[in-house]
Amino acid sequence: MKFVQLAMFRVFRRCHSTLGFVFDIDGVLLKGQNAIPEATDTLNTLQAQKVPFILLTNGGGVLESARCEFISQKLKLHSPLLSRQIVQSHTPLRTLVNKHRRVLVVGGPADSARGVAQEYGFREVLRPIDLIRANPKIWPFHKYTKQEIDEWSLEPEISKVDVDGRNEPIDSIMVFNDPRDMGSDFQIIMDLLNSEGGLLGTRRTYSSSTPSVPIIFSNNDLLWATDFKLPRFGQGAFKIMVQALYQHTNNGKQLQQLTLGKPYKVTYDYAHHVLIDYYENLQSGDFEKPPCMPQLNVAPAKSPFDRVFMVGDNPESDILGGNSYNWDTILVRTGVYKDGDFEQDSKLAKPTFGTFDNVRDGVFAALEKYA
Ligand SMILES: [Mg+2]
Repeated sequence: MKFVQLAMFRVFRRCHSTLGFVFDIDGVLLKGQNAIPEATDTLNTLQAQKVPFILLTNGGGVLESARCEFISQKLKLHSPLLSRQIVQSHTPLRTLVNKHRRVLVVGGPADSARGVAQEYGFREVLRPIDLIRANPKIWPFHKYTKQEIDEWSLEPEISKVDVDGRNEPIDSIMVFNDPRDMGSDFQIIMDLLNSEGGLLGTRRTYSSSTPSVPIIFSNNDLLWATDFKLPRFGQGAFKIMVQALYQHTNNGKQLQQLTLGKPYKVTYDYAHHVLIDYYENLQSGDFEKPPCMPQLNVAPAKSPFDRVFMVGDNPESDILGGNSYNWDTILVRTGVYKDGDFEQDSKLAKPTFGTFDNVRDGVFAALEKYA
């Protein structure tokens, strides 16, 4: 096997064909908290051969560096992944730090999404729990304990919420991850969308499809798999609730919003920039350069790649998004896709390159064919 691989990569190098790979994480590299064994050989081989690749996930809620460290350890990679090689659902929001000063960051475990937003460079990061601490009457049915409020929220003097009845306007709402206290998150978001210029405790007097504060959802995943026997609602379900109530309270006008994540073009554009940036790092050997900050919704002007392969386990996000973006797509059998799914649902997006038992089979077949 080793010999076959080496022979294959000699051919690959002689041809100077430029390939890039984009990997989904859950169901491709990891299953739950555990490594998918074939992923280790795949990424080690690509790293050794300097074939550019990045990871692209709809997950999030933690720092890119923490996620990379976790995956590198789980897969026992020879060299650890770099933070600039991963795009989580909310990673593109880092490009907005100069546009929005005071932001409400919603969702994610404990208070970790605040740290992520601060790491991106947002200067004033509020969480719904800060607003509850300043004035619990904002949602009397909240489920936070006193200890959680003490540990996870800012004092009103720091958050500048409801200090002597005064508030500073909030510039933007960013849903980083699935809400954990959905009732309070929901009420506070609706308040701001219908406020006077983002001021808490105010209500505008007109209906509009443009909310008073822009809102960005980091993914549109309706369902996610847990240990429960049926899939559970995710951020996509929360978005439907926000949209429905916004429409209800705005004379039927539809909420203008931005949604990131797979399968949307905005996220594939961003990932494409990141993959090109990483390719240039590999070429120059300079990894100290700050990572690229592409404008959202702007595709790269040109790409050095002859082919980019999206490798995923979910036809509805990875494969649909990759196909729409004119990338080649590889579907694996180690995650949500099961044989027979295409027969059951003929509308499911099919991979352009093929369906494989695991990530290694798919990637090595691609290298063999095109490299
Ligand atoms: Mg997946």
